[in-house]
Amino acid sequence: MLTATKAKIEPGKLLMNGEWVEGGRTFETINPATGEVLTQVAEAGPAEVDAAVAAARKAFDDAAGPWRKLSASARGRLLWKIADLVEHNIEELAELETLDNGKPIFESRYVDMPMVADVFRYYAGWATKIHGETININEGAFTYTQREPVGVVGAIVPWNFPLLLASWKLGPALACGNTVVLKPAEQTPLTALRFGELCRQAGLPPGVLNILTGGPETGAALVRHPQVDKIAFTGSTAVGREIMRSAADTLKRMTLELGGKSPNIVFADADLDAAVKGAINGIFYGKGEVCNAGSRLFLEKKIESEFVDKLVERTKKIRPGDPLDPKTRLGAIVSEQQMKTVLDYIEMGKNEGAKLVTGGARASVGNGNGYFIEPTIFGGVRNEMKIAQEEIFGPVLATLTFDDVEQVAEQANRNPYGLAAAVWTRDLKKAHGLARRLKAGTVWINTYGLMDAALPFGGFKQSGFGRELGRHAIEHYTELKSVWMSL
Ligand code: NAD
Repeated sequence: MLTATKAKIEPGKLLMNGEWVEGGRTFETINPATGEVLTQVAEAGPAEVDAAVAAARKAFDDAAGPWRKLSASARGRLLWKIADLVEHNIEELAELETLDNGKPIFESRYVDMPMVADVFRYYAGWATKIHGETININEGAFTYTQREPVGVVGAIVPWNFPLLLASWKLGPALACGNTVVLKPAEQTPLTALRFGELCRQAGLPPGVLNILTGGPETGAALVRHPQVDKIAFTGSTAVGREIMRSAADTLKRMTLELGGKSPNIVFADADLDAAVKGAINGIFYGKGEVCNAGSRLFLEKKIESEFVDKLVERTKKIRPGDPLDPKTRLGAIVSEQQMKTVLDYIEMGKNEGAKLVTGGARASVGNGNGYFIEPTIFGGVRNEMKIAQEEIFGPVLATLTFDDVEQVAEQANRNPYGLAAAVWTRDLKKAHGLARRLKAGTVWINTYGLMDAALPFGGFKQSGFGRELGRHAIEHYTELKSVWMSL
């Protein structure tokens, strides 16, 4: 088995200008399945943030430098090579992600890492397809637009899909010719560091990708930095708000991918067995630490009892287990603090009068020191309860009931978030009608949680703005320029 110390990363170092450099103060990164320290990681302070931004700035601004001189086609080939290296090292990357985050190896190996490679391949194709247009307005002028890279991008990512969410930013940022300073989450810095080495191996010129490990302070310094042109942030809505306030001083471009409390709506005419599987997958995949988790399950009243029985029967078969065991489907919560937050919400649910149908407690796995929680379902939840309104970010499902389309559309939308939603029905009109009315960036019909590098992803309302993935991300990593010439 791989351990973090055997992994090919440089503990305590930061990637700057193509070199691994000492990062000063360090902090521990913990294996949430055992509570044990995996390794020490550097905590980048203001001086390191300055140095990394300067390296990114130089790589971007130097018109005669290797990055700016690279053709779009060569940039695409470089991204493709990065994807190949990710695939080549998939076992190591998947194990590192699982050790650091606690997610089942099944997810890291077969979902996260393959999609990382896919995202780089998808944007490798885009590198040669970024262009403007000629706009003829009159005989006296030659007018056209062109898309130019934004400049230095500060990419700040959370701990739930550490390398995958970094790839959603790095793929389009690099395809467009930007340079990047990446700050992974303090809970899960390891795959980003290993990935940095793979980028060196691929031949990414110095300064194009710089990696700063550290906590909120490191991220905040990046947001404040006057030489950073854009912030691409994924994380909580609370931090998103702070970032927006702070970035206002320098009027940075920004995209925010924030929290969610997504409604998963099941009508009586749906394929109920498929919907049960979808509901389970929607909330317990990724331990429920998923921004688009289907954490509010709306059931048409007449199927409530039958559906909940089936749900509980299947849920009881899901046992939290060793994340490195290929059979495990529910891993460890990312940190002790997150485990406490989730357990507090479970208590709150009971106090609010919701009925605990299954789960609800910490689970003991392996050495007993890990942060595991039983898959938990609440029944009889009302939409105004906190467990129906706030993002819990753990394996906790709130089930609610509804009578008709009108009522469920209104209730589903009555929430500050708008990241995703799902509808289960055999009635096409109902399905597409609701897809139109739900205020969410993604709507799934008769499925849950599907993603693809080609489909834009992002939120309505307080789930953020801007889109990642697909061609829409390209717009967020470029500036549009109009050029006029008098003829
Ligand atoms: P978080 O907001 O606490 O932290 C995210 C990142 O921001 C971390 O790297 C952290 O160090 C950094 N950070 C914290 N405070 C900062 C500040 N003041 N300035 C700059 N950077 C700062 O979020 P988290 O707990 O790591 O992640 C969970 C959240 O992320 C959930 O709310 C989840 O819904 C959201 N999320 C959203 C998406 C999406 O695509 N919409 C995807 C995954 C996760």
